[in-house]
Amino acid sequence: MVETQPTAGHFINGRYVEDTAGEVIDVIYPATGEKIAQVHAATPAIVEQALASAAAAQKEWAARSGTERGRVLRRAADIIRERNRELSILETYDTGKALQETLYVDATSGADALEYFGGLAGSLTGEHIQLGADFAYTKRVPLGVCVGIGAWNYPTQIACWKGAPALACGNAMIFKPSEMTPLCALKVAEILVEAGLPAGLYNVVQGMGAVGATLVEDPRVAKVSLTGSVPTGKKVYAAAAAQMKHATMELGGKSPLIIFDDADVENAVSGAMLANMYSTGQVCSNGTRVFVQKGVKDAFLTRFAERCAAIKLGDPLDEETHLGPMVSEAQMNIVLDYIAKGKAEGATLVCGGDRLERDGFYVAPTVFADVTDGMTIAREEIFGPVMAVLDFEDEVEVIARANDTPYGLSAGVFTNDITRAHRVVDQLEAGTCWINTYNLAPVEVPFGGVKASGVGRENAKAAIEHYSEIKSVYVGMTPVDLAY
Ligand code: NDP
Repeated sequence: MVETQPTAGHFINGRYVEDTAGEVIDVIYPATGEKIAQVHAATPAIVEQALASAAAAQKEWAARSGTERGRVLRRAADIIRERNRELSILETYDTGKALQETLYVDATSGADALEYFGGLAGSLTGEHIQLGADFAYTKRVPLGVCVGIGAWNYPTQIACWKGAPALACGNAMIFKPSEMTPLCALKVAEILVEAGLPAGLYNVVQGMGAVGATLVEDPRVAKVSLTGSVPTGKKVYAAAAAQMKHATMELGGKSPLIIFDDADVENAVSGAMLANMYSTGQVCSNGTRVFVQKGVKDAFLTRFAERCAAIKLGDPLDEETHLGPMVSEAQMNIVLDYIAKGKAEGATLVCGGDRLERDGFYVAPTVFADVTDGMTIAREEIFGPVMAVLDFEDEVEVIARANDTPYGLSAGVFTNDITRAHRVVDQLEAGTCWINTYNLAPVEVPFGGVKASGVGRENAKAAIEHYSEIKSVYVGMTPVDLAY
């Protein structure tokens, strides 16, 4: 058992602070529905403290060498790894995701980001441009105070994916977690300070959308990075644009996963499982439109249903459990509504389709077959363990149908034909494509969407572009040449 009630709800200027005048946010353990902690939404006074301390701390941090900044991040990565079990249990309390997952992908992927950007920090350079006798050089400079706004599905990872590159580049970060999962980011802030991060550089403030909006609109903020839904992304991107601020939008998707007749069926079933059921289906990049070529459809569905039946759904703190509940009652009801629409619109229910009769917000892994392109479950992001299987005949047809969506976060293809694999991913409109695997997102690989799924990229060297900008300096080596 870990301490789930933090000593206070916000972490500002290197310490926990509270203002009980803020609206109460109850933290509910999704596996039981019980309240396990509470925080308060940030009041204007709290928001002001966060902004003022971040702005004050950022300049001195930016003046340090990248190597020095990186050392702090790498130390934080080590502390996270040492405390992985405790942080994973907290992630499970915050989200309901099974400990079997959180022990391997949450705090650890946060540590990966801190380690990766910590290593990169010392090598952030500009370039020299010779112009005859004159020359120019460029410098990569930080943006200033950055705001990160998180979704609820990966609270530790998102806090680190945004914080690590921001700090590596010499910025300060103010992070607002989702109101559903307020606990994990506080631990990230605490650990960064323990690792030597000066006070004020990584602040966490709690609150609903309004707190995020206030932060984005403050003139002291130079950049916002949001992980969230497309409707929220449109609002936040517009607010940033109104003041010409930098913005990274990591938004939702309805990604296609294409399984050709020549694929290894067992591997394709594993890929589709990972693409739909992992984290109880609450993953932005999920391949929820599974296009299966007709020759392999029966074998695929039979095997998928068999493997679904073997999924252990239950107490997420039991390490034998594969899948936990949905994050909240509200999200469970959204998912159950979509399941009802799938049934009503004529899709064939292969397995699942119900809430489990037990405490907590459990939905059975659900598969629909004979789904057609116009059905609601094939058009809208569900964000739950619901897979839609659509039939197809040939490659040209399936590419057109896969791209027929406003989203463009991810896509996958399973085939043993190497030329087909590359030909198909070349035509898929998605920020990330997987061939013969799915949903792997290591820090070394850029991650982000095209079309309505977002702008900008997280992770990899690409993230540096989104947390710094180029300053050009022209150096005149001869007298100014002017005719008048
Ligand atoms: P939301 O869009 O509802 O919320 C995201 C965050 O934005 C929350 O912290 C929310 O606060 C805040 N917010 C809401 N309105 C505003 C506003 N006007 N101004 C500033 N901040 C605001 O998304 P969910 O939390 O429901 O997360 C699920 C979504 O996130 C899915 O669409 C999913 O695909 C996407 N996602 C994308 C990922 C990616 O990398 N592309 C990864 C993970 C998820 P509040 O606490 O009130 O909700």
